[in-house]
Amino acid sequence: MGKRIERTRASGTLTEAMFWAKIRAALRNASRWWKPISVVRIKARRKYVGSNRRQKYEYRCNKCKNWFSDKKISVDHIVPVGSLNCASDLPGFVERLFCEESGLQVLCTDVCHEEKTKNERNGKHIIHSKKNRVVGRTATTRRKRRNSPVKRRRVSKRINKNN
Ligand SMILES: [Zn+2]
Repeated sequence: MGKRIERTRASGTLTEAMFWAKIRAALRNASRWWKPISVVRIKARRKYVGSNRRQKYEYRCNKCKNWFSDKKISVDHIVPVGSLNCASDLPGFVERLFCEESGLQVLCTDVCHEEKTKNERNGKHIIHSKKNRVVGRTATTRRKRRNSPVKRRRVSKRINKNN
């Protein structure tokens, strides 16, 4: 495989990429108690009156305006939080991640949120939302890049750093 990357962090146990992945995960985790996220969720909901006895509320997707159960929606950062690969990414990352209610919206996960992340993927941003999806996505992207000419080298470098 490729050449070994030096472990410059945490007593020689972490590469730069691993270090920043940890910081990113920790910040993402911390954003779970961020009040605006739960407020936006609550504001998008109404009492559910359908046949499912266990469902108390339903939530309105800000894009398609349909109603979904809590498992089918996610609170989306309207301005993508973006990547965190180095110290200079940190201020913007934190500002975007911990934004106020006006920077957040409820989207249905399967259609509208999926579509949004797909568009962002095709653009410049690589979004780190759900861990599993990012792994699958970067693998595919990397494969594509490898088979294509030298184009967009910076992006593939960034993706490799994220693993
Ligand atoms: Zn939707």
